[in-house]
Amino acid sequence: MDKHINFIELEKACAKSGCPLCTIISERAERYIDGMLFEHVSDRVFRKEFREAGGFCSAHSQKLDSFRDGLAVAILSRDILEDRIAAFGKRRAWKPKGRCPVCVERERIEKEYLTFLVQADGGENGKAVQQFFTASEGFCAPHYAKLLEVSKSVPRWLTSFHETKFEELLRRTSRFIELSAYGRGAEFARLSEKDKLVWKELARNLRGGD
Ligand SMILES: [Zn+2]
Ligand SMILES: [Zn+2]
Repeated sequence: MDKHINFIELEKACAKSGCPLCTIISERAERYIDGMLFEHVSDRVFRKEFREAGGFCSAHSQKLDSFRDGLAVAILSRDILEDRIAAFGKRRAWKPKGRCPVCVERERIEKEYLTFLVQADGGENGKAVQQFFTASEGFCAPHYAKLLEVSKSVPRWLTSFHETKFEELLRRTSRFIELSAYGRGAEFARLSEKDKLVWKELARNLRGGD
């Protein structure tokens, strides 16, 4: 993947609400599943891997419901059902020997973008990235944790941006809890709509959205 595409895709995702990396991954995962089903259904290696993994994980297999190629889904899923029936017959739990291919792809994309972001520290491009990224909501907690895991030298602008973000979220959550107490209804009513729904924002931030 060349840097130019990373730049454009990240800029677009930063303009949307929510964690930019979750946005990119969810869009890419859809395209990936679509591409896989259309192109790889007759590919022996892919079918073998897919079968060993027992198909997609439960989160990603939900995406299959909305695909138009029912035949591809049927062909791939029949292999898996055969294995399940065999295991049921032996009264044995079926265990996957591989991982969900979309989860594997997701990890690859995460690494690609986190590395790109860490490297976008100087130069004109780097400045542009900093500008649009710090105007976004920033990463969810799982993606920020991953960023720290991927690189030992995360640029200061990225760490301070996220530290401030999470501290602010904590402060607003505490305020919400405090004003939810009996007798503080008038003060609660004066909270902004955003602050009244901070619990949703917090849940989204803690779980990530892909
Ligand atoms: Zn995220
Ligand atoms: Zn998955």
